[in-house]
Amino acid sequence: MKTIGMIGGMSWESTADYYRILNRETQRRLGGIHSAKALLWSFDFGEIEALQSAGDWEGAAGRLVGAGRALVQAGAEFLMICCNTMHVMADAVEQGAGVPLLHIATPLGAAIAEQGLTQVGVLGTTYTLQSDFLSAPLARDYGIELITPTGEDARETHRIIYEELTRGRFLASSRAFFAEAIGRLAKRGAEGIVLGCTELPLLVKPDDSPAPLFDTGALHALAAVDMALA
Ligand code: GLU
Repeated sequence: MKTIGMIGGMSWESTADYYRILNRETQRRLGGIHSAKALLWSFDFGEIEALQSAGDWEGAAGRLVGAGRALVQAGAEFLMICCNTMHVMADAVEQGAGVPLLHIATPLGAAIAEQGLTQVGVLGTTYTLQSDFLSAPLARDYGIELITPTGEDARETHRIIYEELTRGRFLASSRAFFAEAIGRLAKRGAEGIVLGCTELPLLVKPDDSPAPLFDTGALHALAAVDMALA
């Protein structure tokens, strides 16, 4: 079994789920008392969020590359960034650390394709929506098109992620907002909905959507177990 290097804490609310899934799935696959071999670098999200909102993506990349290198030095054999947004710097982290990085879009594309869907909606931070780290590999490798929320739906999603979910606040009113935003994506042709922020599945559940949900964090964690056991 390979040792997984987790770059997490963005936020810890979802990293805790990653850790749980890695261990549960390893135990399920290997049986007995087995669990995942993993190293976790958990950032203070306050420091990372400050760099994001200042637009200092180079500074943020420096932090993640440093974390990746430290994990490799400690024995990590491959890396994963336990978060969608910071995949904007996935290539820099992989090159800087010198070991493979399991990209969050890889298992996501496979899961959507397995259901035969070609047009899916996505919810995430505005950084994720404005970047192409999800849309480019999905289009290139699977011919899948992403439908993004517009205007107020995009702004309110971003606000809820930073002001509530990453602080451990899970409000019924925000859940109702997401159900409505998902409905609007479905009306625009989305055959499925990508929860493209790892905190979203902590609040949004299958009942909130007329179309299948794709939990990027859970798919990513399960794929990491595949990679560790391959
Ligand atoms: N965890 C979130 C994501 O998957 C958002 C927090 C962040 O910006 O790092 O995008």
